[in-house]
Amino acid sequence: MPLHSVAVSDNDSEGYFVMRHPRNPMLHAIYVTTLVMYILYRLPRHGAAVLLAGMRSILKSQASLSSLASEVLMDPRKLLLMYDLDPVTRSYVCCPSCYFLYEYSLAKTRKRKAPVSSNEHHGTIKKADSKMVEDMQLVVSIPTHCTHSRVRASPICGEPLFETVIIGAKAHTIPLCKYKVQDLKQWVGRLLSRPGIKEHMFKAFCRHHKEYMEDMWDAGHLCKILLKKGERFLPGPASETRLAFSFSMDSFNPYHMKEAKQTILSTAIWLILLNLPPHLRYHPKNMFLAGVIPGLRKPSLSNINHSLKLLVNVLLEFFDPGVLYSRTARHKQGCRVQAILVPVVSDMLAV
Ligand SMILES: [Zn+2]
Repeated sequence: MPLHSVAVSDNDSEGYFVMRHPRNPMLHAIYVTTLVMYILYRLPRHGAAVLLAGMRSILKSQASLSSLASEVLMDPRKLLLMYDLDPVTRSYVCCPSCYFLYEYSLAKTRKRKAPVSSNEHHGTIKKADSKMVEDMQLVVSIPTHCTHSRVRASPICGEPLFETVIIGAKAHTIPLCKYKVQDLKQWVGRLLSRPGIKEHMFKAFCRHHKEYMEDMWDAGHLCKILLKKGERFLPGPASETRLAFSFSMDSFNPYHMKEAKQTILSTAIWLILLNLPPHLRYHPKNMFLAGVIPGLRKPSLSNINHSLKLLVNVLLEFFDPGVLYSRTARHKQGCRVQAILVPVVSDMLAV
């Protein structure tokens, strides 16, 4: 089978090696401080804008720095774009009843602003969204009511997919439920661009034999998985990168325990990269959050399949033929990355 030059290769993973921050160290320090407050300490957007305005005022107070003040951005959202901190995601309208998914916008939408124009015509919602990177209109047609049938020849679901809300005396048609799925190819591309990660990723296959097991690699079963007859999947040739993931899924209350008499459960889907040692494996920045299924309740086992199918499709491609990356921290000239999904790690309810 020919090797696909897909996604990340087409989108060029060189982008993860470009220096994005301003060259002026003072401007860089202002932006990093603002981003830390905005993201890690959850400062509201208006608060982050005030912080930037304060920084501008400080610069203006010094004659030698006043010219720099005009370069300080006003909107903290533009910092997220500048530093490329948002994950690449794809949005779907999710049926609140059967959890069937309808593609809502194209991938790699960088604009963080909510859609503003929508209209109803011949039973479909035509949604226009704008991309900051490419100034073009994207129109996606989605039925107003769910057309999915659970089994062949059964009645269609028929659940409404949109609602109308009034914002500033203007009516907006918005999805009742949305599901965002993260792009695994882009996530792997970003991970492999981190120089510090490469030393850890290739040690998993060559652990010294111990009398007692500390990790699942000590059992040896992962290394016995075959890519094809007579060829083990791991560790693979040095010119390529082979990854092993585990799968995890669990429901949680997004409002913690603050709600009164109501229980809302969202269901998150993760992949854990087993190549990493245990102390790095479960760090949030090293875990792949595939998506969070919203809802008032847990989806049934069959309803989860709509979300899992998206993950299965990309993992099949990662297994064979693999995904070609134009550059990684270990392979400057690019390499093929192949991946397997082996164990499911979750509680008995999720299993
Ligand atoms: Zn439905």
